[in-house]
Amino acid sequence: MELDSLYQEVILDHYRNPHHKGLSENKDIQVKHNNPSCGDEVTLNLSMKDGLVQNISWDGVGCSISMSSVSMMSDLLLNKTYLESIEILDAFVELMQSKGQSKGDEEVLDDAVAFAGVSKFPARIKCALLGWMAFKDASSQLMA
Ligand code: ZN
Repeated sequence: MELDSLYQEVILDHYRNPHHKGLSENKDIQVKHNNPSCGDEVTLNLSMKDGLVQNISWDGVGCSISMSSVSMMSDLLLNKTYLESIEILDAFVELMQSKGQSKGDEEVLDDAVAFAGVSKFPARIKCALLGWMAFKDASSQLMA
């Protein structure tokens, strides 16, 4: 395993000091997602107003990849329009499916390009995607 590429400093920073962790009362919907292959669990509270991602908060347990990815996702998608948030999400999914061939678009993904190395490790891709899939689930239910 190329641990260097898996555990970049920015990933560890978000793991040690997660952003938007702790469930907020400000929510329109709550979803729970888990990744049984690793034991990661995330509960996501989401609030959307006038088509904008107004509030994201979460709680969970799991590996550093899953927890830091939810933290970065919350930073990136907060205050975006629904369409912008889905564009960013799609870019992240594409990066995770790149099998190590993509470095990711830093203008779109910002710090989340740090997960590029994870795409080489099929077993960890679900860890990285867990929080993003929870957001996709919650937001698509609200926008339905
Ligand atoms: Zn995991």
